[in-house]
Amino acid sequence: MKTATVRTPVLVVGGGPVGFSLALDLARRGTSSTLVERDAGTALHLLAKAGTLYERSMEYCRWLGIAERVAAVGFPEDYPRDTVYCTALHGFPIGRDPLPSTADRPLAPETPEMLRRCPQYVFDPLLADAVLERGLTDVRYNHRLSGLTERDDGVTATLVTGDGDELTVHADYLVGCDGASSTVRQALGIPFDGQQLDYSVSLMIYCADFERYQPYGRCERWMFLAPDGTWGNITTVDGRGLYRFTIIGSPERIAPDKLDVGALLRRAIGDDTVDVPWQVVNVMPWRRSQCAASEFHSKRVVLAGDAAHTTSPTGGHGLNTSLGDCSDLGWMLPALLQGWGGAGLLPAYTAERRPVAIRNSSLSTRNYKVWVENDGREHILEDSEMGLQQRDALGARLSALLKQEWQSFGVSMGYSYSESPIVVSDGTPAPPDEPSTYIQTARPGHRAPHAWLSPGRSTLDLFGEGFTLLVLGGSATDVTPLTKAADSVGMPLKVEAIDDPQIAELYERRLVLVRPDGMVAWRGDQLPEDVDGLVDRVRGAGRQS
Ligand SMILES: Cc1cc2nc3c(=O)[nH]c(=O)nc-3n(C[C@H](O)[C@H](O)[C@H](O)COP(=O)(O)OP(=O)(O)OC[C@H]3O[C@@H](n4cnc5c(N)ncnc54)[C@H](O)[C@@H]3O)c2cc1C
Repeated sequence: MKTATVRTPVLVVGGGPVGFSLALDLARRGTSSTLVERDAGTALHLLAKAGTLYERSMEYCRWLGIAERVAAVGFPEDYPRDTVYCTALHGFPIGRDPLPSTADRPLAPETPEMLRRCPQYVFDPLLADAVLERGLTDVRYNHRLSGLTERDDGVTATLVTGDGDELTVHADYLVGCDGASSTVRQALGIPFDGQQLDYSVSLMIYCADFERYQPYGRCERWMFLAPDGTWGNITTVDGRGLYRFTIIGSPERIAPDKLDVGALLRRAIGDDTVDVPWQVVNVMPWRRSQCAASEFHSKRVVLAGDAAHTTSPTGGHGLNTSLGDCSDLGWMLPALLQGWGGAGLLPAYTAERRPVAIRNSSLSTRNYKVWVENDGREHILEDSEMGLQQRDALGARLSALLKQEWQSFGVSMGYSYSESPIVVSDGTPAPPDEPSTYIQTARPGHRAPHAWLSPGRSTLDLFGEGFTLLVLGGSATDVTPLTKAADSVGMPLKVEAIDDPQIAELYERRLVLVRPDGMVAWRGDQLPEDVDGLVDRVRGAGRQS
């Protein structure tokens, strides 16, 4: 057995989408890191996990410089996003919620980015490539974290390689991006409470021209309903023949070899005379839960992604929420390493991200409960007037209740950090927090609104490096006291003047201070008297932080 020791500013544990997104965010800000992954690579198997990157995630990809690559992964632009409810593909229809394809959907006026379909087995390697291209991350596969010791001034981690060698890593900070069973979280003894929902199984299946074998044409999803609730669904994965077939709702873990795949597929087809030429690519049992770590940070260690929170995929918010963690840590860790970030930053990370994780996962659990409810459907398999009535009523009910699942623009965009200790409230009321709708606001704690500055150039493109002070509507305020205050503590701050009256109206104040993650930290019509206090507050060094 060989032993070695390395030093790194940030040790990222876990080479899933969260570990690589964070490493990429750090690298674009010039921060080196070491990323360790226990497997021999990332996304080694065609596992059917996340498939949709919502608009806010795509805005993050825009900052990371990979939005165009994600858009170009090859998911067909004309593929519709419809959901079909039925008893089986050749059983009784129950309802259909149509949603347009990328090609047919106009870009929402609130964002420069479209929602994109990008399966995780494509997204994760795409991220890994982008990380390697930046050249600031020491990526080590076949390295499993086995233990860690945290001190006031750093962390020492022990890793075991695939060959049984040992590596000791001294890091200023360690981020646990090591998934729901996080070794990092367990090493710190951080409670991970919530609710266990069920054990499900997802099969990746392939059928070249599925449209020929069922009457609904191309859909994003086919949900299979029975008198005792939704028992399964098929979701398109790549729009070209790969599908995820999920069996929902077992109280116990299902061993893949105990699964009668043939019988389940026949049940989904619902007509033994129709022979669909499926190929089963793989079978993945998984645990559906809604849990959150009690703290997302300790002294020098932070948790991100599934290590910090889990959610039912009914809504597709697992990865999308996790990318928000990366966006927050992506500026906080460099701020700490460069010395201008204060001791309040990591507590602010928990204060900001934990409520968002709970908001998004609670909504996903609500969706899940609609999926598996079983009222008023005892006759849906009957070819009778009563059966027809129940199917019609059920279709209408699902369309109404699951709109928040299929159209979750508000969930993706409308979260806020207004209660954060490093955000300065201006006392204005928050807009309604609705799952399907989103109202842009520059209220402190919210995402700084998008508007086009010129064709292809968004206000969002002004943010992402250090802090940005927007000076709107031709304000003649002398902002030097604030830039001097920032400069005196090394906090990067640039000033951007925007004369466009419509953008000034959107932002509602003459001065708006936007954080490196594109969230509003403070706004006002003039600078506060205590500019040093403002700078200290937003960099996590203030008395109230
Ligand atoms: C069936 C299913 C469907 C889903 N659908 C969606 C969806 O539609 N939309 C959505 O947003 N999300 C969805 N998700 C959730 C999404 O897949 C997760 O939120 C996402 O993968 C979390 O990424 P992560 O990097 O935090 O964790 P993971 O993807 O679990 O990655 C963790 C990594 O850490 C590594 N690791 C673990 N322990 C160690 C150790 N000790 N040392 C070194 N490395 C270690 C693992 O090997 C792994 O590579 C779905 C999940 C499932 C299961």
